[in-house]
Amino acid sequence: MRIVPVPCLADNFAYLLICEETGQAGVVDPAEAEPVLHCVAQEGVTLSAILNTHHHWDHVGGNKALLARQPKLKVYGHASDRGRIEGQTELLEAGAHFSVGKLAVRALHNPGHTSGAVSYVVQDAVFTGDTMFAAGCGRLLEGTPENMYHSLCKVIGSLPPETRVFFGHEYTEKNLRFAAQVEPDNADVQDKLAAVRALRAQGQFTTPSTLAAEWKTNPFMRTDSKSIQQTVRQSDPGNDLTPIAVLGAIRRMKDQF
Ligand SMILES: [Zn+2]
Repeated sequence: MRIVPVPCLADNFAYLLICEETGQAGVVDPAEAEPVLHCVAQEGVTLSAILNTHHHWDHVGGNKALLARQPKLKVYGHASDRGRIEGQTELLEAGAHFSVGKLAVRALHNPGHTSGAVSYVVQDAVFTGDTMFAAGCGRLLEGTPENMYHSLCKVIGSLPPETRVFFGHEYTEKNLRFAAQVEPDNADVQDKLAAVRALRAQGQFTTPSTLAAEWKTNPFMRTDSKSIQQTVRQSDPGNDLTPIAVLGAIRRMKDQF
């Protein structure tokens, strides 16, 4: 297996998921077609599938042009996104399995950012779209804090800590600045922020992260942190500090950050 990030638009990541044994590839979230086709040619692989994590235009925007060139591409998305994903051919439910070349892929259902959000698990990698970012999570556009808590901490969070997390946007630096504000005594956040600033200064991307790093630095997965709870109490004195209430409070703070 080889995974090649394909930067798209201003800050999106599509990813080419390559089965090295067969030369077949799938593309996760083609925001636009051109950079994806360029990468497919450069890698010398055959594109056989589109794996969409959710229906937003900046994740499916390249579907139409890719299908115009290759009408037989399989297009994967959650069953409930039927009619919202251009060219969708495969209607996935939680736990569905399929393959790209000989790579076995498993779909997780992660409602929160959208109702039909899915993540794709392949070997030691997970593609999380706009559900889990490095040090962040997507806005709750079609879901509740409870949905997002469950998706991040119980569903994606059930994967092994060494799992590599391939996320949908290069938001890491801003996310870590927010993380440092809500949990000022977290040294792991400070260390990662310094490392990420150095990477970005060199024009490098921060994908992938790992689940282990997210448990240490992602405030939306750290609702039991006393420091985060103290921050929440200051802005929302009536908050009962359950994990779901804390996640909801810091998500509202992040919306204004
Ligand atoms: Zn989105």
